[in-house]
Amino acid sequence: MARYIGPVCRQCRREGMKLFLKGARCFSEKCAIEKRNFPPGQHGKDRKPKIVGYGLQLREKQKAKRFYGVGEIQFRNLFEKAVRQKGVTGENLLSMLERRLDNIVHKIGFGTSRAMARQFVRHGHIAVNGHKVDIPSYILRPNDVVEVREKSKQNSAIQGAIEATAHLPAPNWIEVDRENLKARVLSQPKREDLVQIKLEEQLIVELYSK
Ligand code: SF4
Repeated sequence: MARYIGPVCRQCRREGMKLFLKGARCFSEKCAIEKRNFPPGQHGKDRKPKIVGYGLQLREKQKAKRFYGVGEIQFRNLFEKAVRQKGVTGENLLSMLERRLDNIVHKIGFGTSRAMARQFVRHGHIAVNGHKVDIPSYILRPNDVVEVREKSKQNSAIQGAIEATAHLPAPNWIEVDRENLKARVLSQPKREDLVQIKLEEQLIVELYSK
């Protein structure tokens, strides 16, 4: 995937909302949305665009992609998978995004941000059902067990993340054993359990269905 390597907070400012891409900083007063909530660029402050139709659908898709840190091709492929599944396409899409390994590692507090969680996965610190998995896009299913591998349990970055996220509740569809650095997916997330930001998935479905 073409990786975005520009300023991270710029993505939130472009969408006009917090996308929680930077861990603890997102909850502090240093957050760029708290200080400069207008689009980036020289004329960002003066621009008051009225977004309708296609623009709205596009922004919704960009927001979801940026929030989950997924590239265009990967996102499109997930959408195609969601279409082929039974049920509501938009909800299927969100459910798969939410069950990505990097997202789950972040949600259970083993990484303060999705980017950090993704790095832990890529560096081979995480196992699923007892086997090392270093693919951040791996999608978990109910009863899958995610854990920090034995050799990585003392890793200072992982320990730091666990300390920093100790006060955050785990999602109700995942059972977390923070002492043993382990978690089990209990069920598929329901729509009300999904995403931390306001997202209208129907607009994404409309965009890709043109
Ligand atoms: Fe930056 Fe996080 Fe604030 Fe977004 S939410 S602007 S990533 S600090």
